[in-house]
Amino acid sequence: MPDIRSVLAAATQQLGERLDAELLLLQVLQQPRSWLFAHVDDVLDTDVQTAFVALVDRRVQGEPVAYITGYRGFWSLELEVTPATLIPRPETELLVEQALLRLPPEIVCRVADLGTGSGAIALAIAHERPRAQVIATDASAAALAVAQRNAQAHGIGNLTFLHGDWLAPLAGQRFDLIVSNPPYIEAADPHLAQGDLRFEPASALASGDDGLDDIRCIVRDARGHLHPAGWLLFEHGWNQGDAARALLHEAGYAELFTAQDLEARDRVSGGRFG
Ligand code: GLN
Repeated sequence: MPDIRSVLAAATQQLGERLDAELLLLQVLQQPRSWLFAHVDDVLDTDVQTAFVALVDRRVQGEPVAYITGYRGFWSLELEVTPATLIPRPETELLVEQALLRLPPEIVCRVADLGTGSGAIALAIAHERPRAQVIATDASAAALAVAQRNAQAHGIGNLTFLHGDWLAPLAGQRFDLIVSNPPYIEAADPHLAQGDLRFEPASALASGDDGLDDIRCIVRDARGHLHPAGWLLFEHGWNQGDAARALLHEAGYAELFTAQDLEARDRVSGGRFG
């Protein structure tokens, strides 16, 4: 019978990604990744092999690993994800970093995360800033249910969830900082029909002809929900930095910035209002 080392080597060849092969096998074995290192010589029984082959097949058909296992790591948190939520991306950690830079650790403050999905950004901020009061919104009740389970699983209590589009559920409320990872892909972008994106909610990915419809709406409406000199920060595409700052400028925001991700691509822009 084959050992874990040889089974993983074969699946890595098939999938082109060692990490994907490991995550799928660990899902079958119900073990954490830290377990693997000491067990590569373990022999796998037939049931486990059969179950693993079935998961590898689903991946070969294109299904994202995070939807197969139901989990994805983001920041320091292991998060539940379902097809109702976007799969958190490593580059979105830049948005969390940029938000934390503007939230001194000891200050009591109010933060909003618009279109929270799995809750990734809101959870990371609430976790790092226990004195912040974070409110996360989403138009999808199914996504909010996932985000709520993630908050419970991690015992994060300084976070509440509201159902609705962007700022709509926040009438009368003001914040020191508003963050969002909205959809920003051009509606006609062929990538939407490729790879993992095919399986993710279209409403979390595409946003009008130039990809900026939702960003325009957020830039316009966030102004009425910021305390004086409060920050709005949002993620966007690598080629949207100039457009993002132009929208912020036209809407009257100041101290505009664009931050680049680890691949030196424009990824997050923001500014202060009032
Ligand atoms: N960064 C994602 C991608 O290009 C898109 C996520 C989003 O639209 N917010 O795959």
